[in-house]
Amino acid sequence: MFSVKRMASLAGGIMLAAALAGGSWAGWAQSAQPDAATGLPVIHTEHGPNSEAARKAHYVVLVSLDGFRWDYTKKYGAEHLLALGKQGVWAPEGMLPSYPSLTFPNHYAIVTGLYPEHNGLVANAFLDEEREAEGKLARYAISDAKAVTDGSFYAGVPLWSLAEKQGMRTACLFWPGSEAEIAGERPAEYLKFDDKGVDEEKRIAQVEAWLKAPEATRPHFITLYYSDVDHAGHSYGPDAAETKAAVVKLDGLIGKLKARLDGLRLPIDLIVVSDHGMVKIQQTVTLDAFADLNNFETTGPLLYGKTEADRAAAYEKLKKASSAFEAYRRKHVPAGLHYDENPREGDPVIVPTGPYAIRAHAPAAGKPDNGPVGQHGFDPRKMPEMKASFFAVGPDLVHGKTVAPFENVNLYPWIAHILGLTAPKSDGSLNVLAGTLRDGGETTKE
Ligand SMILES: [Zn+2]
Ligand SMILES: [Zn+2]
Repeated sequence: MFSVKRMASLAGGIMLAAALAGGSWAGWAQSAQPDAATGLPVIHTEHGPNSEAARKAHYVVLVSLDGFRWDYTKKYGAEHLLALGKQGVWAPEGMLPSYPSLTFPNHYAIVTGLYPEHNGLVANAFLDEEREAEGKLARYAISDAKAVTDGSFYAGVPLWSLAEKQGMRTACLFWPGSEAEIAGERPAEYLKFDDKGVDEEKRIAQVEAWLKAPEATRPHFITLYYSDVDHAGHSYGPDAAETKAAVVKLDGLIGKLKARLDGLRLPIDLIVVSDHGMVKIQQTVTLDAFADLNNFETTGPLLYGKTEADRAAAYEKLKKASSAFEAYRRKHVPAGLHYDENPREGDPVIVPTGPYAIRAHAPAAGKPDNGPVGQHGFDPRKMPEMKASFFAVGPDLVHGKTVAPFENVNLYPWIAHILGLTAPKSDGSLNVLAGTLRDGGETTKE
């Protein structure tokens, strides 16, 4: 165990790290330096070495291909991913994202085992009225570095924090939440999110460099992230040639990653997932056309009424306004969505009934109003296009196993088990994927 916060490192290191992190963190001993092998600006948290037990553990490389819809592999002939599925474990009918099927809520659900309303990230952007009343930073948005790096927005114990608490080093090459101190920990090594600035091939070289580190400092849990397929899906739609090209390109990178990992001759389980799928948008709906939202604060489609009377009045208007969405008082949102408990969800709650882009207000006059071609966020149980991808191969996994669609929160206890970590209770269960494990999910460690 080494959850103790370390002494501050050299002042120069702190200044460099502050520059790289946008100066938005404080009080944690960190330094950023170009990695000796890749030159990438890796931020180092002053963690101790792997414990004796951690050194004996296997390795997990968790890759996210953002927006990689469950059926893209076959649709676009992603041969490396299909090969992974054949060798290891695959969900040929896809994996179920948590609702809403958005990027940050789902990446963070995967690493915490908690539905968005339990992990805190109920959307990519939201308002926390309690924090607002306390005078704290209250608006979270994925584009706001200050919010994204503020650990107090996040609940749960992400896998990297869980591992670090249990004496195992981790490294994140991008993952929502990885730039914040959460549950008292940070990854031993991570990078500030810079999707354009960090070369995609170099990301693989960085993972390889981490895995070539001496046993004492070698991370056992590593994340890696690619956004290309999501970007193409948004810009051109899921059926476009550009989206196919992005799929083929990332499939090639997965092939390279697999070959490099094989070359290391370490017991590595490679897990490739996505956060959600993609669908072509048919219609844009603006909520203030149906109800007076003047007494509401809003973020995208989320509605925060000032008083109960405001919320009740808006609900009465919205509930019969359009076939493009259902309106619910928050406490009455269907239980299967797990979206009725957290005040960050607003009230009333709007749930789209089809591929419709929903927003509270149109952009201000003079501002562009051209939404993306493709979008996600919809209920994955009602809209199969929202389903995500899942592939895994490695020494802890059975060969040639397929699994039926399962909720992504179940990855958390499963990955913790592979790493020999004790996971706290979550919304996921090890039973769901136990059949994919060579040990059947039985605990033999300790
Ligand atoms: Zn995404
Ligand atoms: Zn997206």
